[in-house]
Amino acid sequence: MRRQRRTKIIATLGPASSDADTIERLFIEGADVFRINMSHTSHEGLRAFVSAIRGIEKKHGRPIGIMADLQGPKLRLGTFAAGNAMLAPGATFVLDDDPKPGDAARVYLPHPEILSSLQPGHRLLVDDGKVRLVVTEASRKRAVTRVEVEGRVSDRKGVSLPDTIVTVSALTPKDHADLEAALEQAVDWVALSFIQRPEDVAEAKKIARGRAAIMSKIEKPQAITRLAEIIELSDALMVARGDLGVELPLERVPGLQKRITHDSRQAGKPVVVATQMLESMISSPVPTRAEVSDVATAIFDGADAIMLSAESAAGKYPIEAVQTMDRIGQEVERDSTYHAVIDPHRPNPEATGADAISAAARQIAETLDLPAILCLTSSGATALRVARERPKPPIVALSPKLETARRLALLWGTHCVVTEDARDVDAMVARACNIAYREGFAREGQRVILVAGVPLGTPGATNMVRIAFVSGESTETD
Ligand code: PEP
Repeated sequence: MRRQRRTKIIATLGPASSDADTIERLFIEGADVFRINMSHTSHEGLRAFVSAIRGIEKKHGRPIGIMADLQGPKLRLGTFAAGNAMLAPGATFVLDDDPKPGDAARVYLPHPEILSSLQPGHRLLVDDGKVRLVVTEASRKRAVTRVEVEGRVSDRKGVSLPDTIVTVSALTPKDHADLEAALEQAVDWVALSFIQRPEDVAEAKKIARGRAAIMSKIEKPQAITRLAEIIELSDALMVARGDLGVELPLERVPGLQKRITHDSRQAGKPVVVATQMLESMISSPVPTRAEVSDVATAIFDGADAIMLSAESAAGKYPIEAVQTMDRIGQEVERDSTYHAVIDPHRPNPEATGADAISAAARQIAETLDLPAILCLTSSGATALRVARERPKPPIVALSPKLETARRLALLWGTHCVVTEDARDVDAMVARACNIAYREGFAREGQRVILVAGVPLGTPGATNMVRIAFVSGESTETD
């Protein structure tokens, strides 16, 4: 199965897409990676999703990426005696460490670490920012606030803290348990929510020990201030526009989307644009013009992947949402302006063999109008650098490791195939050409370009670029 699109699609699974038949339809229609949101999924649910996806992968013979998205330190209010309370503008409202149900004057904040981090002037955004409080006095036991934007608050509503560095780990006890469960299920990507510092990424990497790649969701202003360090430590990034638009003014999100996408592309780290991409398709079979334009913008920015959240997890039209993204992707990438828009943002090669060879491979492939760049990659590192070039021809990544192929399902423009390393380079070239032929990337008599590290299987040793002839199925010598 060959996709006609470079930008990948991530579909979140949920009640609207929990059975194997729907997941298979989502895959057939274009989902390259499935996201399991641990905020709403039990460990049993996780196992069921993974088992269904791996069954589909086996049936279709194509590697599929699985991402477990950890909930992170989602902060919540306690409860109210009446279930809710109306906060008037300018009123005083106290958050404290007393578990008694609250009222319009106070409520329990079951997070001692927040109470000890709040400072006068800090904002608390309740229920996705619908109610805004500003701290006037703070102590370890209580924070006195003034209601800046009034509204109704109710039991266990979420609280965002755009101004406060909370001195706790980004991984809660629930995240630790979910991460272990996800690693046990051999998921390919783990997404981290509400990270603030590079140390948060380092902590997850230390636990994962390479068993899953780590994606940092950028959704807090504190993470923006340390973006470069977070990008450096992460395996991939997500522009998590939902919470980013709660913690920062909404009008700042488009500029940040451009910046995060640009900086991730420069670093050669896959970047995902997420949330409300086709929001109206939760209840409508067709998107709005503005949503189509929003998806197109992410594609024109050169994002590696675009993501569906509630549209595929809980909406009425999950299949149609994937089909819509697929159609937009194909059309935008076919548009004569596509490369004119993304190419000026191509990063310069860094002074490494891998980058020099990746840049040369793209240039040769485009000069000779070759149909594919074949990339022999054990860890996936070579494919990442080739994809960083955003070449016109598709990339076919050949790896002896299934886990590499699954991770690369997220990577822009890359079709992954699992194949054993051959006994020598000539046998490997013949095998790669056969695969390109078999998978429909090159016809008999065409030339392709091949990038590899020799000896094969040495991570980080990209040192070979070769033009090879495709002569059909019979050429393989090993
Ligand atoms: C987001 O906030 O945009 C996001 C992707 O995170 P979640 O869906 O987990 O809230």
